[in-house]
Amino acid sequence: MKRGCPNIDCRYYQKNDYIVKDGTYYRRDDSRFIQRYKCKHCGKKFSSATFSLACHQKKRRINFKLNALLASGNSMRRSALLLHVHRMTVTRKLIYLAKKARQLHQERLNNLANQIEHLQFDDLVTIEHTKMKPLTVTLAVDAKKRTILGAEVGQIPAFGHLAEKSRRKYGYRESQHKDTIKRLFESIKHVIKKDALIESDEHHLYPQFVKSFFPASNYRQFKGERGCVVGQGELKKVHFDPLFMLNHSCAMLRANINRLIRKTWCTTKDPKSLKDHLDIYIEFHNRYLIPA
Ligand SMILES: [Zn+2]
Repeated sequence: MKRGCPNIDCRYYQKNDYIVKDGTYYRRDDSRFIQRYKCKHCGKKFSSATFSLACHQKKRRINFKLNALLASGNSMRRSALLLHVHRMTVTRKLIYLAKKARQLHQERLNNLANQIEHLQFDDLVTIEHTKMKPLTVTLAVDAKKRTILGAEVGQIPAFGHLAEKSRRKYGYRESQHKDTIKRLFESIKHVIKKDALIESDEHHLYPQFVKSFFPASNYRQFKGERGCVVGQGELKKVHFDPLFMLNHSCAMLRANINRLIRKTWCTTKDPKSLKDHLDIYIEFHNRYLIPA
């Protein structure tokens, strides 16, 4: 037991001085006996489960499997069907699993502090329910090991022949692209080496942010080649792709996160859930899918 008394008004808050064991209870959900504790100073009772992220859950046994299913190209509804649980359970667990994945990812990033020498980043476009409401996912990848360092989601206005129609139907749609890039760089700036090599395509917004976040870096932009393989827009059919590591990761996101697959019935309804789903996949990707 690491944490002491959870009572914030207690003189021994977070201290173990007056903590004694206070019996156990049987947790039917995963057939385990859980140790209870009591603070003898203030009388507060708690258990070793109190501080867990999974506290009060009733279906702990499916957590691991659901995480793998969601990171392996299954929709939320299909995961619910395969695991014999209600789809609301999956909706709730998506939030829990994402929280857990973010914690693990943060630990991974903290261990990588100032170590990334070669960064590639780019945007991937997807939609929120309809093509008239596009979303952008800004993605950063370590080009040496293919570790995904982070991804952020933001809305962008519709473009091309749908722009006019979208404005008529849904009104003005603000672009959050700048905030998305800012948030991403903010979250990864401590892992990037000062003189790192940073690469991206020729988007006009990128240079200003690279300059302000990584002023000493060696920044190079490449002319983007349009994808020609149907369904895998990010994997180019050219002889040499300078942004291969990044485009490969984008293609893996598209293949393994159901709602990002091109031409699919399954679409994002809430950008927040897309972010959660991305975080679950990123942790799974970095843990199991790339060489250690
Ligand atoms: Zn106490």
